[in-house]
Amino acid sequence: MTEKTDFFMEKEDRFGAHNYHPLPVVLTKGQGAWVWDVEGNKYLDMMSAYSAISHGHCHPRILETLVEQAGRLTMCSRAYYNDKLGEFLETLCKLVDMDMALVMNSGAEAVETAIKAVRRWGYQHKKIPDNQAEIIVTSSNFHGRTVGIISFSSDESYRVGFGPFLPGFKIVPFGDAKALADAITPNTCAVITEPIQGEAGIVIPPQGWLKEVKEICQKNNVLLVLDEIQSGLGRTGKILACEHEGVKPDAVVLGKALGGGFLPVSALVGRRDLLEVFTPGSHGSTFGGNPLAASVGLMALKVMQDEQLIERSAEFGTYFLNALKQISSPFIKDVRGRGLWIGVDIDPAQKSARSICEELMRQGILSKETHETVVRFAPPLVIKREDLDWAIEKIRGVLMGE
Ligand SMILES: *Cc1c(COP(=O)(O)O)cnc(C)c1O
Repeated sequence: MTEKTDFFMEKEDRFGAHNYHPLPVVLTKGQGAWVWDVEGNKYLDMMSAYSAISHGHCHPRILETLVEQAGRLTMCSRAYYNDKLGEFLETLCKLVDMDMALVMNSGAEAVETAIKAVRRWGYQHKKIPDNQAEIIVTSSNFHGRTVGIISFSSDESYRVGFGPFLPGFKIVPFGDAKALADAITPNTCAVITEPIQGEAGIVIPPQGWLKEVKEICQKNNVLLVLDEIQSGLGRTGKILACEHEGVKPDAVVLGKALGGGFLPVSALVGRRDLLEVFTPGSHGSTFGGNPLAASVGLMALKVMQDEQLIERSAEFGTYFLNALKQISSPFIKDVRGRGLWIGVDIDPAQKSARSICEELMRQGILSKETHETVVRFAPPLVIKREDLDWAIEKIRGVLMGE
């Protein structure tokens, strides 16, 4: 660390609430898969801002769209139509084979939108008695930070001191179809889960679980809503992670990469009968669906397809995963992943994931630990093969304790 780094860190730490525990590096510039700190050091980004940077930093085509639109019309609120939102909605719906969408900004807002939608759907379509609707969720979930969402978190660190919480949720173990089936009552309106749990440590459920969940939902007239905010839009080597399981949900929540690395753009995308529960006045967001976000989101989807980011994620992900599996390090307990989304379990008796991340940082690779024991590798999907090879050698060195 040096003077400049200290200067910026001190300011953030003094005037900013300490709701994160960042690595001690101060970034100032990004391009593609690479970022630079204020000292001029260069790092390969293996975090991609939790998938928000799937397109890489400052993607030139998305940047051009942003700048062009920023000089024309940025915000007009949904009090009026705008000439960008319709095409964005159409492209988004067709991409994931759904009927309608509702655009918000942050991921958490889109999850809240999903909660409102499925509850109202339950009252209107299942005739659930007023205020009795139940939603089933999975343990170790991560869906965001609002009070509504943390009400169904099983992670105490997300909840301590923030009660009272919202009723109406049942938590069942992730990957346990029988427990889920047993939790269903006539008042259950929906199951909301991630298909692969990101913040929990890239946790992949048992093969066939999601399919079983879908069948249970169908049999009981319960909606299946998948939170693909982190797993979606190519991260796992498919447009949606649920495609690996051959499952089509009733609605999907998207965010992060939907903003192309420039803006917060999120959406609930789903069946017509679900999205049609919203009537004027029942839900909204001042910034949701603004023309700047809509044009950036649209270009983000176009770039993802034009540059075959999904195919790259599948191909490079398999290559990367195999390379990591070949490292026989005493620190590694497990290596797993789908596409360019890989979690390495570190044996806490040997090393902390944090110390591995700090060592990787010194070697020019930015990752971030999750839950103290998992190091995640999720580079931008635009990463070049030679950069990936360079990283694999560095990672091998760090994990071998060299
Ligand atoms: C990041 C994330 C969210 C929350 O998104 P924000 O934009 O941070 O509100 C919700 N669900 C999943 C699966 C996520 O990874």
